Amino acid sequence: MALTGLEIYKQLPKKNCGECGVPTCLAFAMALASGKAALDSCPYVTEAARENLDSAAAPPIKAIKFGKDSVLGDETVLFRHDKTFYHPTTLLIHVSDSLSDDELSAKIQEIKGLEFERVGLQYSIDGVAIVQESGDAARYAKVAATVAEATDKSLLLLSNDVAALKAALEPLASRKPLIGSATADNYEAVVNLAKDNSVPVIIKAEGLEALEELVTKAQALGYKEFVLDPGSRTTVNTLENLTQFRRLAIKKKFRPFGFPVIAFTVNQDPMEEIMEATVYVAKYASAVVLKTSKKAHLLPLMTLRQNIYTDPQKPIQVEPKLHSVGNVDENSPFYITTNFSLTYYSVEGEVETSKIPSYILPIDTDGTSVLTAYAAGKFEPEKIVEAMNASGIADKVKHRNIIIPGYVAVISGKLSELSGWKVVVGPRESSGIVSFSKTLS
Ligand code: SF4
Repeated sequence: MALTGLEIYKQLPKKNCGECGVPTCLAFAMALASGKAALDSCPYVTEAARENLDSAAAPPIKAIKFGKDSVLGDETVLFRHDKTFYHPTTLLIHVSDSLSDDELSAKIQEIKGLEFERVGLQYSIDGVAIVQESGDAARYAKVAATVAEATDKSLLLLSNDVAALKAALEPLASRKPLIGSATADNYEAVVNLAKDNSVPVIIKAEGLEALEELVTKAQALGYKEFVLDPGSRTTVNTLENLTQFRRLAIKKKFRPFGFPVIAFTVNQDPMEEIMEATVYVAKYASAVVLKTSKKAHLLPLMTLRQNIYTDPQKPIQVEPKLHSVGNVDENSPFYITTNFSLTYYSVEGEVETSKIPSYILPIDTDGTSVLTAYAAGKFEPEKIVEAMNASGIADKVKHRNIIIPGYVAVISGKLSELSGWKVVVGPRESSGIVSFSKTLS
């Protein structure tokens, strides 16, 4: 939460010397509060005051960047509807160094294939967690190098053996992997390894009190690029911890927990594992490490993630232009819908299933569904005619038939009058399009 001018003023030297470019400390405080000045402009700010002001201005949960483009944390609210969540949970697939070379190769290929397209958006898995389970440092470094060479995804290097971690990390430091875990037994070595290589590090301790103590000790080493692991390995305890972290960081500004949190799934059954992961994605893991790498398991999880991390004030929209499905020609049917992504892609999917090449024109309704748009006056005949004219549909088809959603049958008369086209009332739900399309020929 930003400080007020008066709160900032209390931390300033009160010399009123004017060297900062404004005549008084109070004026400078006001300029700082409104973002029109930088603290560095005052040469007399004490280190203590600087630390307080920097700390007060910092986000409640620090942003930690690693790998290709993974950003963890930097969230500001407890609930999505309060504002929005900014950085979708980073999903990483567990790869053990105890896999044989053939198994490793197959696993990497499977991970590389985890790309999906849904409602016009591309989804993919963010990274690979390379876990040392072989007990062999040389094998671990080799597996880490093999994975890094095969994919440009973000990397997490996990080992209890500091020497193995170092051997795997140093050749890959330019990839900026996340490493872990620093525990009470090894934190000095692991945090210093992270610091020397400028990579973020997981701080792990069992329970919140132990973790607070360890974070404080680790920070004393002069490094703050941390991701927290409370060590819980049951769904209930992990959920409880994740919730506590978020509440303490956001509501209490409790700085030791002002870092992103990582969760590890424990269920062996893939379906149970995905259900477990959905809990962590919903509340409030910044990263989750999963074992399954099957597309069928991961798509529902990524769909949930995408829904949670969509700005609730900005529905996902498709471009309001003429879209063609299949090899359209001058006889192709012409459908109207709205540009709410879910609505559009539901219609498009059913039109595709009908196997009748068709045109679809999504009207710009600010990303609202058909009935919402109609109720808000955004799906009016005038607007539809304007969109039709701009789309050039009249030059693409020789018929003059518009198919409108059944829910807005009431606009048929006026739309027909304004456009000069025959209005055909389609089904209310997109699921009726396939059977409806059979009546068209
Ligand atoms: Fe006050 Fe510092 Fe500005 Fe001088 S330079 S007026 S001490 S804020």
